[in-house]
Amino acid sequence: MKKTIQRKYAKLIARTGANIQKGQTVRLFVNVDQYEFATILVDECYKAGASRVDIDWNWQPITKLDYRHRTLRSLSTVQKWEEERLKLMTEEYPCRIFIISDDPDGLKGVNQDKMQKARIAKYPIIKPYRDAIDNKHQWTIAAVPSYEWAKKVFPELSKSQAYNKLWDAILATVRVTEDNDPAEAWRVHNENFKNRSAWLNAHKFERLEYKSANGTDFKVWLMPESRWCGGGEYTLSGVYYNPNMPTEEIFTTPCRGKAEGTLVSTKPLSYEGQLIENFSITFENGKAVSWKAEKGESLLTKMITMDEGAAMLGEVALIPCNSPINNSGILYYETLFDENASCHVALGEGFNECVDGFENRTNEECEALGVNDSMIHVDFMIGAPDLCITGYKDGVATPIFVNGEWASEV
Ligand code: ZN
Repeated sequence: MKKTIQRKYAKLIARTGANIQKGQTVRLFVNVDQYEFATILVDECYKAGASRVDIDWNWQPITKLDYRHRTLRSLSTVQKWEEERLKLMTEEYPCRIFIISDDPDGLKGVNQDKMQKARIAKYPIIKPYRDAIDNKHQWTIAAVPSYEWAKKVFPELSKSQAYNKLWDAILATVRVTEDNDPAEAWRVHNENFKNRSAWLNAHKFERLEYKSANGTDFKVWLMPESRWCGGGEYTLSGVYYNPNMPTEEIFTTPCRGKAEGTLVSTKPLSYEGQLIENFSITFENGKAVSWKAEKGESLLTKMITMDEGAAMLGEVALIPCNSPINNSGILYYETLFDENASCHVALGEGFNECVDGFENRTNEECEALGVNDSMIHVDFMIGAPDLCITGYKDGVATPIFVNGEWASEV
């Protein structure tokens, strides 16, 4: 991929994505094989006004070695210096930029039990810091291709052909072309999100009903305070940023403990570097009570039983079948993209920022209203060409989706 277009993309990430403020610090999370793109991105971060860019270099093969050779006790320890760094985040509120390029199968063979136990052990130490920066800083997730990921997406192509094709596909989804102004394209995109969210918020639906011939037959209740969001967001101090690049979803956080029926997945789910395929989950009283999967069932069980909130929903998201990502026909094996191809829900943590007036509510208050809490937040796809979603308010039914598309124009 040409350096000029990579720079255009890096600039978009730094300014439209993270919207780095003058003098702000940046934490960049990136894989070591992406050092070339990282160099361009760091340059663009400084040009956007960053005062310091700290980089967290990652490499899946080393992560794998860590899980193999370190004891559970060692993996479960949050080192003093790591905690200091978390503390620093609550003082500096840095922009966090995550550049994804992992091999979707890159952690295959890792002991899932060990991974899960280590994560559970570290969570109570990490959580207070995580809560303390929630909605107070900008963050953005974007992707660049790696050879391994590209080969997974396009197995029929040569390594370099697959790599170039994945670059093209990524740039198309984030609205970067040779001759456009991507920042302007995102402005228009965000305007559309605003109109659609406003329509949904005006209807104040109490409950949504999902039906599809594949077996999806599902009801989920929203909180009176649930607010639909999409596209860019504001930090509490009023900085506008785009957390996901690409993004096509309008989403909200449902009421914990209020969902009934069955959801059938329509795309494979890549979780912890492994795939779960052709699965369905049945809910009672808002909780997943039974599930099955053709592939990866034990991993699905691990995920759902991770903690109490992992069996409950934290997100419902609407995306028409006629979305650029879905139309590309590409399965990315990466949630950042695949979640934007199709309507989905997420198990696990809900979004406080999807609660009306969240700015003036504490985390505990949001939780008391019905926002789910969990260590995980995992999206899975349920969109289908015949999916119908109906919204209910005071007994009145309003079609939201008919046959996989928005029922009405706004
Ligand atoms: Zn989502």
